[in-house]
Amino acid sequence: MKFKRLVGYFERIEATAKRLDMFDILSELFKETQPDEIDRIIYLTQGQLLPPFHAPELGISEKLLIRALSEASNKPTKTVEEIFKATGDLGESAEQLINGKEALGVNQVYDELMAIAETSGKGSVNIKMGFLSGLLRAVSSVEAKYIARFILGRLRLGIGDPTVLEALALSEGDRALRPELERAYNLCSDLGLVAKTLKTGGMKAIEKFRIRVGYPIRMALCERLPSSEDIIEKMGRAAIEAKYDGFRCQVHKKGDTIEIFSRNLERTTKMFPEIREAARSLPAREAIFEGEALAYNEITGELFPFQVTMQRKRKHGIEEMAKEYPLRFFAFDLLLFDGEDYTEKPYSERRDKLVSLVKGNAVIEAARMFETSDPKEITKHFEEFVETGLEGVVAKRLDGVYTAGSRNFNWIKLKRSYRGELADTIDVCVVGYFRGRGARARFGVGALLAAVYDSESDTFKTVSKVGTGFTDEEFLQVKTMLDEITIKKKHPRVDSEVEADVWVTPRYVVTVTADEITRSPMHTAGRDLEGVGYALRFPRAVDFLRPDKSAEDANTVDEIIKMEAQQKQVKVK
Ligand code: AMP
Repeated sequence: MKFKRLVGYFERIEATAKRLDMFDILSELFKETQPDEIDRIIYLTQGQLLPPFHAPELGISEKLLIRALSEASNKPTKTVEEIFKATGDLGESAEQLINGKEALGVNQVYDELMAIAETSGKGSVNIKMGFLSGLLRAVSSVEAKYIARFILGRLRLGIGDPTVLEALALSEGDRALRPELERAYNLCSDLGLVAKTLKTGGMKAIEKFRIRVGYPIRMALCERLPSSEDIIEKMGRAAIEAKYDGFRCQVHKKGDTIEIFSRNLERTTKMFPEIREAARSLPAREAIFEGEALAYNEITGELFPFQVTMQRKRKHGIEEMAKEYPLRFFAFDLLLFDGEDYTEKPYSERRDKLVSLVKGNAVIEAARMFETSDPKEITKHFEEFVETGLEGVVAKRLDGVYTAGSRNFNWIKLKRSYRGELADTIDVCVVGYFRGRGARARFGVGALLAAVYDSESDTFKTVSKVGTGFTDEEFLQVKTMLDEITIKKKHPRVDSEVEADVWVTPRYVVTVTADEITRSPMHTAGRDLEGVGYALRFPRAVDFLRPDKSAEDANTVDEIIKMEAQQKQVKVK
């Protein structure tokens, strides 16, 4: 396909505000796409070169792009800067400046962009500039607009993963294929790979799709229930594991090659050198297992809070951090062992194999666990766990399989809660903010507009304003981070009636607690026909930022509705 044709689709998608139209346009695009370019077209449409766990960085700043535009258009940088000032968008500026005539194919443009991303080391800036200005010189004005936006990570067509899956199913002429495509996607987290498998081998190949080492499996999630009694009533005899408040990791081992993926499927191997080393020494040729990495005090054996573990997120000084706050890895699931897929096996079998796999390892140990059918025993251990710095318990159905990418009652969490608070925290996604008044004015941000995720429509629906629970330092940090993702108008995937002072791309997740969930006409989450949605009462941030979670990992509208119903049932003892 010619790149210009793809850009034609981008324009149509951008012009529509209706999700249904978007599905149709995308499915038309996928129908027309050849198997050898479907993966690339999907990545490009989502503003990336590969799935996020490969995430090659283009490394082109606004300044460099201005330079490239100047070279490609033979105009002084000053002229480019003036146009940029007038348009406020380097995409539009590129459109005005560029007017190339070579009709490049999608694969050619993709290869050029990849070459830019892959150039690193000494002198790389000039080489990247050469590639980029060459590419811009070749393309037409409208192509240049989208290339410029892509380069800066501002393509923003509003196409999330569920939208791609829906459109892929439609492109095969049948919406009902979506669950099977979703299953494959949950096993590899790579929409390009799923689409390519579909285009080359049809639904037969999709049905045969299995997990593979090196491709992160979308993580299984917990449901929640308000009490130990409810848990036993639901599960019968169950495994009760300690709930660790750490950094969830999925470790992939193939011989000595180790990769570690985070909850939001980013490659975080570099953050955890000691876990990588420990995984190498495990007695398995191949393995995929999950657990929580936690900073702990070697002398007292005490576990540190999440924020201490999270300091690993920094780019530098990891080795020093590893010395100061060494990590323990509490493994709680095994998904693959020596070529054998364990996800379909019952919990008990996975657990036994996991225990034998990690036995004797100095860093990796199996999560604390006991089996019971007595709610009193859960309550007793719960208190004891919480005293030692754990978050609560996760109950697991003994015959439950590992359900990639889904939240169901195979795992049920029970967390500590305080009087007058919801039984659990809620993860919300920031979609905009309000400038501060009074003392807050100096931070430039006084409250965040928070939303939850609706996977059905692949949109974010507002649920609250959050203005408390942040320290001064956190406010400043939030402001700096939000400045980088500010957009001129509401993001196409955001559904809000509240007007934020500043809109941002949905990217950051904040964990909040609240007194309760109430019905409110202000917010769009869970709106009924009368226009009444759900809102958080007295929300406050508890983890001001969750770098381990992506926007779509925020709690969903359905979960908020369930929590609202549950809070009415909480038993008063
Ligand atoms: P939450 O983030 O509150 O929804 O709780 C679910 C998270 O608890 C999971 O995503 C894991 O990161 C974490 N977790 C801690 N301990 C366990 C465990 N033993 N089993 C499963 N998940 C656990």
